Amino acid sequence: MLPLMEDFYTIQGEGYNSGKAAYFIRLGGCDVGCHWCDVKESWDAELHPLTLTHQIVANALQYPSKNVVVTGGEPLIYNLDYLTIQLHQQQIKTFIETSGAYPLSGQWDWICLSPKKFKAPLPEVCAAAHELKVIVFNKSDFVWAEEHAKLVSPQCKLYLQPEWSKHQEMIPLMVDYVMNNPQWEMSLQTHKYMNIP
Ligand code: SF4
Repeated sequence: MLPLMEDFYTIQGEGYNSGKAAYFIRLGGCDVGCHWCDVKESWDAELHPLTLTHQIVANALQYPSKNVVVTGGEPLIYNLDYLTIQLHQQQIKTFIETSGAYPLSGQWDWICLSPKKFKAPLPEVCAAAHELKVIVFNKSDFVWAEEHAKLVSPQCKLYLQPEWSKHQEMIPLMVDYVMNNPQWEMSLQTHKYMNIP
């Protein structure tokens, strides 16, 4: 059983899989403590009902897309082996959004590592990440992004994404940065522009 905060079918708005329809599983529980977190309601796991993994998988199967995004909160607080094995048995692709602050568990087709300053990512998650997505809140985050790019594999895709409340201020700086450092790509929270979850 896992504390399920919410689950919904939508379009992944950000990062490498942006634009793909996906069923989202948001697990409750996070102690990373980002001050700009836009899902603070997720932090206390006890507020979210423990839900049978079989029920979560059954919910996912109701939708035509075979992509599932597991997010939070910080989903790696929990061991996700059983959930992802069950999803794979149903030919569903498994994507995760994680800060990397907890040990890696689960079978993943795509690992999006979005490290946070408040709790450093573990080396094992950095090594396994397919995508590094750094949230840009202020200018100093470019240096921080480069420090984390050194921790991931050479194949890992690199994204810079503006923190939503600062996006108008940060996007011009990010455009310049990506044009001068094209190993990075822009990621925008397109679901917010589309007004979908
Ligand atoms: S890691 Fe994610 S859920 Fe946790 S506080 Fe930071 S932004 Fe919020």
